[in-house]
Amino acid sequence: MSVLSVILPSYNEEQMIKTAAETIAALLKAEDIRYELIFVDDGSYDRTWEKIEDVSSCDPRIRGIHLSRNFGKEAAIIAGLTEARGDCCVVIDCDLQHPPEKIIDMYRLWEDGYEVVEGVKNNRGEESVLHRTAAKCFYSVLSAATGFDMSNASDFKLLDRKAVNVIVNMQEKKAFFRAMSSWIGFKTISIPFDVRERTAGDSKWSKMALSKYAVQNITSFSAAPMHIVTLLGTLMLIVSLVMGIIAIVQKISGVALGGFTTVIILQLFSSSIIMLSIGIIGYYVARIFEEVKNRPIYIISERCGENERGEARKREDI
Ligand code: UDP
Ligand code: MG
Repeated sequence: MSVLSVILPSYNEEQMIKTAAETIAALLKAEDIRYELIFVDDGSYDRTWEKIEDVSSCDPRIRGIHLSRNFGKEAAIIAGLTEARGDCCVVIDCDLQHPPEKIIDMYRLWEDGYEVVEGVKNNRGEESVLHRTAAKCFYSVLSAATGFDMSNASDFKLLDRKAVNVIVNMQEKKAFFRAMSSWIGFKTISIPFDVRERTAGDSKWSKMALSKYAVQNITSFSAAPMHIVTLLGTLMLIVSLVMGIIAIVQKISGVALGGFTTVIILQLFSSSIIMLSIGIIGYYVARIFEEVKNRPIYIISERCGENERGEARKREDI
Protein backbone atom coordinates (compact mmCIF):
# COMPACT_ATOMS: atom_id res chain seq x y z
CA MET A 1 0.00 0.00 0.00
CA SER A 2 1.25 3.46 -0.81
CA VAL A 3 2.56 5.90 1.73
CA LEU A 4 1.88 9.62 1.78
CA SER A 5 4.55 11.94 3.22
CA VAL A 6 3.26 15.22 4.60
CA ILE A 7 5.94 17.91 4.89
CA LEU A 8 5.42 20.77 7.29
CA PRO A 9 7.98 23.60 7.25
CA SER A 10 7.84 25.27 10.66
CA TYR A 11 9.52 28.41 11.87
CA ASN A 12 8.67 29.58 15.39
CA GLU A 13 5.38 27.73 15.38
CA GLU A 14 5.39 26.31 18.95
CA GLN A 15 1.65 26.92 19.30
CA MET A 16 0.78 25.11 16.10
CA ILE A 17 2.86 21.89 16.08
CA LYS A 18 0.59 19.79 18.26
CA THR A 19 -2.64 20.99 16.66
CA ALA A 20 -1.23 20.49 13.16
CA ALA A 21 0.05 16.99 13.93
CA GLU A 22 -3.20 15.89 15.57
CA THR A 23 -5.49 17.38 12.96
CA ILE A 24 -3.63 15.93 9.99
CA ALA A 25 -3.02 12.51 11.60
CA ALA A 26 -6.70 12.20 12.55
CA LEU A 27 -7.83 13.06 9.02
CA LEU A 28 -5.49 10.55 7.38
CA LYS A 29 -6.31 7.81 9.87
CA ALA A 30 -10.02 8.28 9.27
CA GLU A 31 -9.47 7.83 5.54
CA ASP A 32 -7.20 4.83 6.04
CA ILE A 33 -4.26 6.44 4.27
CA ARG A 34 -0.76 5.31 5.31
CA TYR A 35 1.27 8.39 6.10
CA GLU A 36 4.38 9.90 7.64
CA LEU A 37 4.50 13.47 8.91
CA ILE A 38 7.81 15.29 8.59
CA PHE A 39 8.19 18.50 10.53
CA VAL A 40 11.11 20.62 9.35
CA ASP A 41 12.14 23.04 12.06
CA ASP A 42 13.70 25.89 10.12
CA GLY A 43 16.03 27.05 12.91
CA SER A 44 13.27 28.30 15.24
CA TYR A 45 14.32 30.11 18.40
CA ASP A 46 11.16 29.33 20.38
CA ARG A 47 10.11 25.89 21.66
CA THR A 48 9.12 24.50 18.27
CA TRP A 49 11.77 21.75 18.31
CA GLU A 50 10.69 20.52 21.78
CA LYS A 51 7.12 20.36 20.55
CA ILE A 52 8.19 18.39 17.50
CA GLU A 53 10.12 15.95 19.72
CA ASP A 54 6.99 15.57 21.88
CA VAL A 55 4.66 14.74 19.02
CA SER A 56 7.17 12.42 17.38
CA SER A 57 7.59 10.43 20.59
CA CYS A 58 3.80 9.88 20.73
CA ASP A 59 3.33 8.76 17.13
CA PRO A 60 5.89 6.60 15.31
CA ARG A 61 4.70 8.06 12.03
CA ILE A 62 5.88 11.55 12.94
CA ARG A 63 9.47 12.61 12.36
CA GLY A 64 11.32 15.85 12.77
CA ILE A 65 14.43 17.39 11.33
CA HIS A 66 16.02 20.47 12.80
CA LEU A 67 17.98 22.79 10.53
CA SER A 68 21.07 24.36 12.04
CA ARG A 69 19.74 27.88 11.44
CA ASN A 70 16.95 29.65 9.59
CA PHE A 71 17.49 28.74 5.94
CA GLY A 72 14.09 30.01 4.75
CA LYS A 73 10.91 28.22 3.80
CA GLU A 74 12.15 27.12 0.37
CA ALA A 75 15.16 25.34 1.86
CA ALA A 76 12.95 23.79 4.56
CA ILE A 77 10.65 22.40 1.87
CA ILE A 78 13.59 20.92 -0.07
CA ALA A 79 14.93 19.40 3.17
CA GLY A 80 11.54 17.79 3.83
CA LEU A 81 11.24 16.46 0.28
CA THR A 82 14.74 15.00 0.48
CA GLU A 83 13.89 13.19 3.73
CA ALA A 84 10.49 11.94 2.61
CA ARG A 85 10.11 8.28 1.74
CA GLY A 86 6.48 8.22 0.64
CA ASP A 87 5.16 7.46 -2.83
CA CYS A 88 3.81 10.97 -2.91
CA CYS A 89 4.44 14.09 -0.83
CA VAL A 90 2.21 16.92 0.26
CA VAL A 91 3.71 20.23 1.37
CA ILE A 92 1.49 22.21 3.72
CA ASP A 93 2.02 25.22 6.02
CA CYS A 94 2.03 24.16 9.63
CA ASP A 95 -0.05 27.20 10.66
CA LEU A 96 -2.99 25.34 9.06
CA GLN A 97 -3.81 28.30 6.80
CA HIS A 98 -3.94 25.67 4.10
CA PRO A 99 -7.03 23.52 4.81
CA PRO A 100 -5.79 20.03 5.80
CA GLU A 101 -9.00 18.33 4.55
CA LYS A 102 -7.81 19.11 1.03
CA ILE A 103 -4.92 16.67 1.51
CA ILE A 104 -7.46 13.87 1.15
CA ASP A 105 -8.82 15.32 -2.12
CA MET A 106 -5.26 15.72 -3.39
CA TYR A 107 -4.43 12.15 -2.45
CA ARG A 108 -7.52 10.82 -4.27
CA LEU A 109 -6.52 12.75 -7.39
CA TRP A 110 -3.06 11.23 -7.11
CA GLU A 111 -4.68 7.78 -6.93
CA ASP A 112 -6.51 8.69 -10.14
CA GLY A 113 -3.13 9.11 -11.82
CA TYR A 114 -2.27 12.80 -11.46
CA GLU A 115 1.40 13.42 -10.67
CA VAL A 116 1.28 17.03 -9.51
CA VAL A 117 -1.75 18.43 -7.68
CA GLU A 118 -1.49 22.19 -7.21
CA GLY A 119 -3.40 24.00 -4.49
CA VAL A 120 -4.65 27.27 -5.95
CA LYS A 121 -5.84 30.09 -3.69
CA ASN A 122 -9.45 31.24 -4.05
CA ASN A 123 -8.76 34.26 -1.89
CA ARG A 124 -5.63 35.62 -0.29
CA GLY A 125 -6.85 35.97 3.31
CA GLU A 126 -6.66 39.27 5.19
CA GLU A 127 -4.01 41.54 3.68
CA SER A 128 -3.32 45.26 3.43
CA VAL A 129 -3.97 47.03 0.11
CA LEU A 130 -0.24 47.68 -0.30
CA HIS A 131 0.61 44.02 0.26
CA ARG A 132 -2.10 42.87 -2.15
CA THR A 133 -0.93 45.26 -4.89
CA ALA A 134 2.72 44.32 -4.43
CA ALA A 135 1.83 40.62 -4.57
CA LYS A 136 -0.20 41.20 -7.75
CA CYS A 137 2.74 42.96 -9.46
CA PHE A 138 5.14 40.24 -8.36
CA TYR A 139 2.95 37.43 -9.65
CA SER A 140 2.27 39.09 -12.99
CA VAL A 141 6.01 39.58 -13.57
CA LEU A 142 6.63 36.01 -12.45
CA SER A 143 3.86 34.61 -14.68
CA ALA A 144 5.43 36.42 -17.63
CA ALA A 145 8.88 35.10 -16.71
CA THR A 146 7.88 31.49 -16.24
CA GLY A 147 5.15 31.31 -18.85
CA PHE A 148 2.72 29.78 -16.33
CA ASP A 149 -0.18 31.50 -14.61
CA MET A 150 1.20 31.95 -11.11
CA SER A 151 -1.32 34.55 -9.90
CA ASN A 152 -2.90 32.33 -7.25
CA ALA A 153 -0.16 29.77 -6.82
CA SER A 154 0.71 28.53 -3.34
CA ASP A 155 3.14 26.11 -1.76
CA PHE A 156 0.28 23.75 -0.92
CA LYS A 157 0.77 20.87 -3.34
CA LEU A 158 1.02 17.16 -3.78
CA LEU A 159 3.89 15.72 -5.79
CA ASP A 160 4.34 12.19 -7.03
CA ARG A 161 7.62 10.42 -6.19
CA LYS A 162 8.86 11.04 -9.76
CA ALA A 163 8.32 14.79 -9.43
CA VAL A 164 9.88 14.83 -5.95
CA ASN A 165 13.01 13.12 -7.27
CA VAL A 166 13.33 15.67 -10.05
CA ILE A 167 12.99 18.62 -7.65
CA VAL A 168 15.39 17.17 -5.10
CA ASN A 169 17.99 16.51 -7.80
CA MET A 170 17.84 20.01 -9.27
CA GLN A 171 20.20 21.24 -6.56
CA GLU A 172 19.42 24.87 -7.27
CA LYS A 173 20.62 26.99 -4.38
CA LYS A 174 17.83 29.51 -4.48
CA ALA A 175 14.95 27.45 -5.67
CA PHE A 176 11.41 28.79 -5.84
CA PHE A 177 9.32 25.74 -5.09
CA ARG A 178 6.03 27.25 -6.21
CA ALA A 179 7.25 27.95 -9.74
CA MET A 180 9.54 24.94 -9.99
CA SER A 181 6.67 22.49 -9.56
CA SER A 182 4.99 24.06 -12.61
CA TRP A 183 8.24 24.18 -14.55
CA ILE A 184 8.91 20.44 -14.20
CA GLY A 185 5.67 19.58 -16.00
CA PHE A 186 4.08 16.13 -15.36
CA LYS A 187 0.38 15.35 -15.37
CA THR A 188 -0.94 18.29 -13.38
CA ILE A 189 -4.30 19.31 -11.97
CA SER A 190 -5.25 22.27 -9.77
CA ILE A 191 -7.57 22.27 -6.84
CA PRO A 192 -8.91 25.51 -5.37
CA PHE A 193 -8.82 26.19 -1.64
CA ASP A 194 -9.68 29.07 0.70
CA VAL A 195 -6.82 30.53 2.71
CA ARG A 196 -7.75 30.48 6.39
CA GLU A 197 -6.89 33.02 9.01
CA ARG A 198 -3.93 32.24 11.20
CA THR A 199 -5.19 30.95 14.57
CA ALA A 200 -1.94 31.44 16.50
CA GLY A 201 1.34 33.30 16.06
CA ASP A 202 2.18 35.82 13.31
CA SER A 203 3.25 35.67 9.71
CA LYS A 204 6.98 35.02 9.59
CA TRP A 205 7.61 37.44 6.75
CA SER A 206 8.64 41.05 7.16
CA LYS A 207 8.06 43.55 4.32
CA MET A 208 11.82 43.63 3.70
CA ALA A 209 12.08 39.83 3.60
CA LEU A 210 9.18 39.64 1.16
CA SER A 211 10.70 42.24 -1.17
CA LYS A 212 14.03 40.40 -1.21
CA TYR A 213 12.20 37.14 -1.83
CA ALA A 214 10.33 38.69 -4.77
CA VAL A 215 13.50 39.98 -6.48
CA GLN A 216 15.26 36.67 -5.87
CA ASN A 217 12.47 34.58 -7.32
CA ILE A 218 11.99 36.72 -10.41
CA THR A 219 15.71 36.68 -11.18
CA SER A 220 15.92 32.93 -10.67
CA PHE A 221 13.33 32.43 -13.41
CA SER A 222 14.17 35.22 -15.82
CA ALA A 223 17.08 37.09 -17.30
CA ALA A 224 14.71 39.84 -18.52
CA PRO A 225 16.15 42.51 -16.16
CA MET A 226 19.52 42.02 -17.90
CA HIS A 227 17.86 42.52 -21.28
CA ILE A 228 16.37 45.74 -19.94
CA VAL A 229 19.95 46.95 -19.57
CA THR A 230 20.56 46.41 -23.29
CA LEU A 231 17.27 48.13 -24.06
CA LEU A 232 18.19 51.15 -21.96
CA GLY A 233 21.58 51.29 -23.65
CA THR A 234 19.95 51.34 -27.10
CA LEU A 235 17.58 54.07 -25.97
CA MET A 236 20.48 56.14 -24.67
CA LEU A 237 22.32 55.68 -27.99
CA ILE A 238 19.33 56.98 -29.96
CA VAL A 239 18.94 59.97 -27.62
CA SER A 240 22.63 60.81 -27.86
CA LEU A 241 22.61 60.54 -31.66
CA VAL A 242 19.71 63.00 -31.90
CA MET A 243 21.30 65.36 -29.37
CA GLY A 244 24.65 65.08 -31.19
CA ILE A 245 23.13 66.01 -34.53
CA ILE A 246 21.34 68.98 -32.94
CA ALA A 247 24.61 70.11 -31.35
CA ILE A 248 26.52 69.90 -34.64
CA VAL A 249 23.80 71.76 -36.52
CA GLN A 250 23.84 74.49 -33.84
CA LYS A 251 27.63 74.70 -34.03
CA ILE A 252 27.60 75.08 -37.81
CA SER A 253 24.84 77.68 -37.76
CA GLY A 254 26.72 79.57 -35.07
CA VAL A 255 24.10 79.40 -32.29
CA ALA A 256 26.02 77.00 -30.01
CA LEU A 257 25.72 78.79 -26.70
CA GLY A 258 24.38 77.99 -23.27
CA GLY A 259 23.11 74.44 -23.23
CA PHE A 260 24.29 73.92 -19.66
CA THR A 261 20.93 72.50 -18.52
CA THR A 262 20.94 69.98 -21.36
CA VAL A 263 24.46 68.88 -20.48
CA ILE A 264 23.64 68.45 -16.81
CA ILE A 265 20.42 66.53 -17.48
CA LEU A 266 22.14 64.22 -19.96
CA GLN A 267 25.04 63.68 -17.58
CA LEU A 268 22.78 62.76 -14.63
CA PHE A 269 20.50 60.63 -16.75
CA SER A 270 23.24 58.59 -18.37
CA SER A 271 25.22 58.04 -15.19
CA SER A 272 22.17 56.86 -13.27
CA ILE A 273 21.27 54.44 -16.03
CA ILE A 274 24.83 53.12 -16.07
CA MET A 275 24.80 52.62 -12.31
CA LEU A 276 21.41 50.93 -12.38
CA SER A 277 22.61 48.61 -15.13
CA ILE A 278 25.79 47.68 -13.31
CA GLY A 279 23.63 46.96 -10.26
CA ILE A 280 21.37 44.59 -12.19
CA ILE A 281 24.30 42.78 -13.76
CA GLY A 282 26.03 42.66 -10.36
CA TYR A 283 22.98 40.97 -8.92
CA TYR A 284 23.16 38.19 -11.46
CA VAL A 285 26.92 37.84 -10.95
CA ALA A 286 26.23 37.44 -7.23
CA ARG A 287 23.69 34.72 -7.99
CA ILE A 288 26.22 32.89 -10.18
CA PHE A 289 28.78 33.23 -7.37
CA GLU A 290 26.33 31.64 -4.96
CA GLU A 291 25.64 28.69 -7.25
CA VAL A 292 29.33 28.21 -8.01
CA LYS A 293 30.29 28.08 -4.33
CA ASN A 294 28.05 25.05 -4.21
CA ARG A 295 27.25 25.23 -0.52
CA PRO A 296 24.50 22.96 0.78
CA ILE A 297 20.95 24.33 0.58
CA TYR A 298 20.34 23.43 4.24
CA ILE A 299 22.18 21.80 7.13
CA ILE A 300 20.49 19.33 9.45
CA SER A 301 21.62 19.59 13.06
CA GLU A 302 19.21 17.18 14.78
CA ARG A 303 16.64 14.56 14.03
CA CYS A 304 13.86 12.96 16.03
CA GLY A 305 11.38 10.16 15.54
CA GLU A 306 14.01 7.65 14.48
CA ASN A 307 14.86 4.23 15.93
CA GLU A 308 17.56 3.45 18.53
CA ARG A 309 20.29 3.06 15.91
CA GLY A 310 19.60 6.57 14.68
CA GLU A 311 18.12 5.33 11.43
CA ALA A 312 14.89 6.60 10.05
CA ARG A 313 12.18 3.97 10.47
CA LYS A 314 11.75 1.60 7.60
CA ARG A 315 8.97 2.27 5.18
CA GLU A 316 7.27 -0.95 6.28
CA ASP A 317 6.89 0.36 9.83
CA ILE A 318 5.01 3.45 8.78
N1 UDP B 1 8.32 29.23 7.41
C1 UDP B 1 9.55 28.59 7.42
N2 UDP B 1 10.70 29.33 7.36
C2 UDP B 1 10.69 30.70 7.29
C3 UDP B 1 9.42 31.34 7.26
C4 UDP B 1 8.27 30.58 7.31
O1 UDP B 1 9.61 27.35 7.46
O2 UDP B 1 11.75 31.30 7.26
C5 UDP B 1 7.07 28.43 7.47
C6 UDP B 1 6.09 28.84 8.57
O3 UDP B 1 6.37 28.19 9.78
C7 UDP B 1 4.75 28.40 8.00
C8 UDP B 1 4.96 28.60 6.51
O4 UDP B 1 6.35 28.63 6.28
O5 UDP B 1 4.47 27.04 8.26
C9 UDP B 1 4.29 29.85 6.01
O6 UDP B 1 4.75 30.97 6.74
P1 UDP B 1 3.81 32.15 7.20
O7 UDP B 1 2.53 31.61 7.75
O8 UDP B 1 4.61 33.00 8.12
O9 UDP B 1 3.56 32.89 5.83
P2 UDP B 1 2.18 33.48 5.27
O10 UDP B 1 1.11 32.46 5.54
O11 UDP B 1 1.97 34.74 6.00
O12 UDP B 1 2.48 33.65 3.82
MG1 MG C 1 0.71 31.41 7.11
